[in-house]
Amino acid sequence: MEDAFIRIRNLKKIYKMGDEYIHALDGIDLDIKKGDIICLLGTSGSGKSTLLNAIAGLEKPTKGEINIGGVELTKLNEEQLTIFRRLNIGFVFQSYNLVPTLTALENVSLSLMFKGEDKKTREQKAIKILKAVGLEHRLKHKPKEMSGGQQQRVSIARAFVDNPKIIFADEPTGNLDSKTTEEVLNLITKIAKEHNQTMIIVSHDEEVTNFADRTYHMQDGKIYKIKTNEKGEETNEKAN
Ligand code: ADP
Ligand code: MG
Repeated sequence: MEDAFIRIRNLKKIYKMGDEYIHALDGIDLDIKKGDIICLLGTSGSGKSTLLNAIAGLEKPTKGEINIGGVELTKLNEEQLTIFRRLNIGFVFQSYNLVPTLTALENVSLSLMFKGEDKKTREQKAIKILKAVGLEHRLKHKPKEMSGGQQQRVSIARAFVDNPKIIFADEPTGNLDSKTTEEVLNLITKIAKEHNQTMIIVSHDEEVTNFADRTYHMQDGKIYKIKTNEKGEETNEKAN
């Protein structure tokens, strides 16, 4: 692909456990366009999180290339990777990873601390995005005072607050019921499309594929199938 924003070539990650070698990633090639919503689908242990963590620069691959917007991640040191993540990437996790002692507003504005903005600007940005995810009435609530779906909305607000180029979501709906799952998927894909952000959603749940432009099926550290979502057909199928 000529216009790939994320370009991965022959990516391998081998873990050594005693005498055993685990090929968590076994030669991954991937081209992702800017603004695309991608689903990495596979059963537990297929290598999805390892791939996501490698693309996010959180885990060094054993071999291969990861190029994002012209930057070769495997050539960056830890400090450069930290800066790269801070400037370009937002994360949504299955378990929300909110700070339990902080309110929704504080959790979201905290992530702007490193950007050198004053408190007022941080709060304004945080309130704006918390409104966008439908939590304007929960600004002062702490995580345990909110439902799972609401906590995930806070973590979505935190991921999007500084308008990152890329959003990584690892099993973002893994702890949510099916109705909330659909709401959360609708929300994150809508925000990402509005801002032309590239999003990679990792999941074992087929439901996610309905919200993605393309789905990469993974097994044993390999991509064995790629499916592109034909938008027109999907609307017809949802007859009620
Ligand atoms: P998924 O996210 O699809 O469930 P993972 O990427 O977490 O799968 O794991 C892929 C494979 O790599 C699994 O077999 C897992 O046991 C193994 N693995 C993951 N992380 C490590 C690690 N830190 N050390 C050793 N093996 C690991
Ligand atoms: Mg995983």
